[in-house]
Amino acid sequence: MMKKIRNGIKASTRISARIIIETIHRLVINIFDTLFGFLNWPEKKLRVRVFILQDPKANAVVSPADLDPAIEYAKRSFKKNFNTRLLPYKPTQQIVEVLQKKAPYEALYTKGNIGALAEEFKIAGNFFASNLSGSFYPITAFVVLDIDHASGCSLGPLTDYVTLDPDGARNASTLAHEIAHACGLWHIRSKSNLLWRTFSRGDEVKWWQKNIFRSSRHVTYW
Ligand SMILES: [Zn+2]
Repeated sequence: MMKKIRNGIKASTRISARIIIETIHRLVINIFDTLFGFLNWPEKKLRVRVFILQDPKANAVVSPADLDPAIEYAKRSFKKNFNTRLLPYKPTQQIVEVLQKKAPYEALYTKGNIGALAEEFKIAGNFFASNLSGSFYPITAFVVLDIDHASGCSLGPLTDYVTLDPDGARNASTLAHEIAHACGLWHIRSKSNLLWRTFSRGDEVKWWQKNIFRSSRHVTYW
């Protein structure tokens, strides 16, 4: 009971802090991009770490090489669309690693959409939050065993992480799509767009999506 309450309070604090930090970035630090992000100038940076979880038998749920197409796609797409360089969270680090830690069942089998928001206040949310590569700026992508009704999930700017299931991790565009959600973008009804819901999405973005992406707290000048 106490643990439940503690997880809930921690999650509320995390989310509140992120809303404040995000607002400061959009209205102050990154105001130039909020207004003129479509100019795609100057080049910005986005730091990412992908953690592959281990299943209950301690096997990685996918191999790091399975994510090569997704990393290449995200690098190319973000440079082309947002003039943003995707980098590892530390210069000496690989982007993709297997997390050498036992993951709870709730993190291995996560819920999508509104269920993910409820989970954020419980065991899974607490596990993801305690394995981030840093608060506010880098994005950590966790590869889990399964996500209910989805291949990837993001709570947008409310968290610093996104999740992928093995299908989503092996698909070229899903990592870039989920990171775009984390940077404030929502689904749009255009098949050629990066924010189209399914795997058949294209890689295009609209001018106003550049403003939103580039003014996110995750997309930095440094
Ligand atoms: Zn989506």
